[in-house]
Amino acid sequence: MSEVAFITGATRGIGKKIALTFAKEGYNICINYRKETDDLDVLKSEIEANNVKCLFVKADVSNFEECENAVKSIIEKFGQIDVLVNNAGITKDMLLARMKPEDFKSVLDVNLVGTFNVTKNVLPYMMKARSGRIINISSVVGISGNAGQTNYSASKAGIIGFTKSLAKEVASRNILINAVAPGFIETDMTNVLKPEIKEQIAKNIPLKRMGTAEDVANVVKFLASKDSSYITGQVINIDGGMLM
Ligand code: NAD
Repeated sequence: MSEVAFITGATRGIGKKIALTFAKEGYNICINYRKETDDLDVLKSEIEANNVKCLFVKADVSNFEECENAVKSIIEKFGQIDVLVNNAGITKDMLLARMKPEDFKSVLDVNLVGTFNVTKNVLPYMMKARSGRIINISSVVGISGNAGQTNYSASKAGIIGFTKSLAKEVASRNILINAVAPGFIETDMTNVLKPEIKEQIAKNIPLKRMGTAEDVANVVKFLASKDSSYITGQVINIDGGMLM
């Protein structure tokens, strides 16, 4: 039986690229999504073109019960989850002086509480199997901070604390928990930035370009593979050298 990878928020951007990369590696793929989009059928055939199975599970990661049901339906179909990638995330940027309390809370609820909600439901199956990999998608701003992103940075810093604590809790069960901290990656999330701002950002990155979803997916693939079997509780920056 092929290994099973579950990726949250994976119908577009970095999550979609991770799903496609894992499919090429031969994993059966479970894709979490929040809303129906026209893309699901196309994505399903792209995944299945690699001779692997593909299951879509609908859930808002900020809702514990929906996550519980999503995980149950994966276990019903595949009987196991070998790799979990907590990728779903949102931004609601604003200087703190003008940030609405609900915008602070909703970013924490999706990015940080969402990571808890999914992990909490997946972990018992990994504990039973005495094996598993969890890769959490943090961000460089969770380490460096960023004006206008108190909510987002707090959520991504929280993910780092969560990653390290859980890595210590479950290492004896052979479950490895790591995080990646991408810098500026070209996706819909960063497409809201004006071209001149993007150019300015690229100029300040040692590698002189924004990252791609593929840059992130390749590191996540490594962290899920046997090649990383002595790495746990770590945060790997994928940022072209932006943060050193
Ligand atoms: P994106 O907006 O293209 O994708 C985010 C995905 O999360 C979408 O598919 C969305 O539907 C899903 N999602 C949002 N809220 C959800 C919810 N409540 N339940 C389930 N799914 C939900 O963004 P992206 O750039 O692909 O970002 C992916 C991850 O990478 C995020 O965690 C983001 O914070 C992180 N990240 C991105 C960058 C970047 O520069 N793009 C940098 C650092 C970290």
